[in-house]
Amino acid sequence: MGKTVMLYEGKAKKVWATEDDALCIVSYKDDATAFNGLKKGTIVGKGSINNRVSNFFMSIIEKRGVPTHVVKELNDRETLVKRVEIVPLEVIVRNIAAGSLAKRLGLEEGIVMSQPVIEFCYKNDELNDPMVNTSHIIAMNFATRKELDIITKYSLIVNEVLQEILKEDNITLVDFKIEFGREKDGTIILADEISPDTCRFWDSTTNEKLDKDRFRRDLGGVEDAYKEILKRVMGKK
Ligand code: UDP
Repeated sequence: MGKTVMLYEGKAKKVWATEDDALCIVSYKDDATAFNGLKKGTIVGKGSINNRVSNFFMSIIEKRGVPTHVVKELNDRETLVKRVEIVPLEVIVRNIAAGSLAKRLGLEEGIVMSQPVIEFCYKNDELNDPMVNTSHIIAMNFATRKELDIITKYSLIVNEVLQEILKEDNITLVDFKIEFGREKDGTIILADEISPDTCRFWDSTTNEKLDKDRFRRDLGGVEDAYKEILKRVMGKK
């Protein structure tokens, strides 16, 4: 299955059509952006790490009953995926207060919450991905109530599965963002990626950040943090 035309180039990935209109190929880039594109840079090796780590997470998630877009890893940077219409929502699941939540509620980063928090943001760069609630989502037809119920159920399963995997690697899952797509027949599946670009991973012993916050906050050691995640998550596989 080869690439035909490029359908889309995003901040971290390119998406190509293939001869089969139900499938496309995603190609992960080393480009990094933060603050809605205001900060730009390169994280050498990121594309290949995110591709492999994301596919590994998704393969386990799939086994636990959440359908995903992944069909086959083609090489270091490229994966064959099911072509979907993306639901225009960023679903954020949080276990520990950090980032925008800590800021919004005036909390210290690191406060463990008594249950996971789920937030939805409307995917729109011009508007800076504003947070929306269930009522907005249904009223604006971003998703139906039924779809939202499925998305919520799947997101909490993803949280459980990731926490289980990462616990073995002495990594705390602080929060993460996922996206869903609709197949032609309307089936909701997990799409996009799950990687150090889209999750907060803290070393469980030292609380050292092992994710994109190192780039966002100029903490140094960005490449090493991505490599460390690859090593811990996939090293023993
Ligand atoms: N996140 C993401 N893409 C975005 C916004 C957030 O992948 O456009 C991830 C981010 O890496 C973190 C989680 O979602 O793991 C929660 O992010 P938050 O809302 O705290 O925003 P941030 O501090 O990243 O701006």
